[in-house]
Amino acid sequence: MDNKLLEIKDLYFSFDTYAGEVQAVRGVSLYVNSKETLALVGESGCGKSVTIQNVMKLIPSPPGRLKSGSIIFNGKDITNYKAKEMQKLRGKEMAMIFQDPMTCLDPTMKIGKLIIEGMLKHEKITRVEAEKRAISMLSKVGISNPDKSMNRYPHQLSGGMRQRVMIAMNLTCSPKILFADEPTTALDVTTQSQILELMNKLKDEMDTSIVLITHDLGVVARMAQRICVMYAGKIVETGSSNEIFYNPMHPYTWGLLSSMPGKNRIDKSKFLETIPGSPPDLFAPPIGCSFAARCSYCMGICKKEQPEKVSINGEHSAACWLLDQRAPNINRPVFKSQVGALD
Ligand code: SF4
Repeated sequence: MDNKLLEIKDLYFSFDTYAGEVQAVRGVSLYVNSKETLALVGESGCGKSVTIQNVMKLIPSPPGRLKSGSIIFNGKDITNYKAKEMQKLRGKEMAMIFQDPMTCLDPTMKIGKLIIEGMLKHEKITRVEAEKRAISMLSKVGISNPDKSMNRYPHQLSGGMRQRVMIAMNLTCSPKILFADEPTTALDVTTQSQILELMNKLKDEMDTSIVLITHDLGVVARMAQRICVMYAGKIVETGSSNEIFYNPMHPYTWGLLSSMPGKNRIDKSKFLETIPGSPPDLFAPPIGCSFAARCSYCMGICKKEQPEKVSINGEHSAACWLLDQRAPNINRPVFKSQVGALD
C-alpha cells in the first residue's frame, strides 16, 4: 500500500537576482512516508531549507521562482496552491519549527496567546477550550507550571524552553507533517538531547511525520529512519539510516561521515577531517558532477557528465560515476566505528 504523505517530484527552483539566476534546487525528488522521520542532510547552502520552504510556500516570488516539478501532499497536488489555500494547510496539516525560536516568537505576545491564536484560526473551538488545550500541550512539552507560563513573554524563557513552546505551538493542531529546520543547533548539548527526545515522543504519540533539516549527523542518527544527502541543490545519495551510516556510497557522504565527531573514533589524536574546498557557485553550476572539484576520487568523466542515480540496495541509491560498472575498483572507507549513536 502506498504510504506516501509527501512527494516532491523533480523540483527545480531558482532565485532571480540582479547578479543572475541562482539555481538553488536542481531536480530534487523525495518522499516522506506517514509517521516516519526523514532527514535532509548537507552543508549550508545546499538547498535543504529551500526545498522544504517550497512545500510550505514560504519563499516570496520574486525573487524565488518555481521552474518545474510537482509537490503532492496527502494525495493532493499542491504545487500551484495560492496563498489562501496554503493558509488552510499551514499550521493545521503541516507545520515548521526553526533554528532560533526567538526570531519566530512574537516578543510582544504572551506564550498562551501565541499558542491559542493558531488553534482559533484552524479549529472550531471556543477560547476556553483552546486555553485548556494550550495548557495541556505546554505540560506535554515539559514546561513546568504551564498555566502560569501562559502569561509569560518569550524573553522570560530560556532557549530550550522557547523551543519547547515552538513545538507546542506547532503541534497543537496535530499536523500530519512537521518540518524541523535545524531545531537544536542553537541549543546546548543537554537541552538538544531533551528536545530530540521530546520530538521523538510527540511524533509517536501524535502519528506525525517529521522532516528534519540538519547538518548534524549525530542528530540524524538519533531521529531519522531515512536520509537524503543533498549537495549543490541535488540529492546525491538516499537510503535508510543504516545504509547511509554503515554502507555509504557517495564520496560526499564519506566526507560528511569523516567529519563527524564519534565516541568510537579509532585515532583520537588525529584532528577531525574536513571536506576540502567549498561548494560550487550556483549561479553557474558545473557541467559534470557538482562535487568534482572537492572529490579525491574524481575521474575524467566526472567533470564532463553528470552521474545518474544508481540503485544500490532496495531504496538506497547514489549518483556517482564510481558506481558505474566501468569505474575502477577503489578501497571504500569504513565508517562503522565512527557512528557511536547507532552502535
Ligand atoms: Fe567524485 Fe566523480 Fe563520484 Fe562526483 S561522480 S562524487 S567527482 S567520483
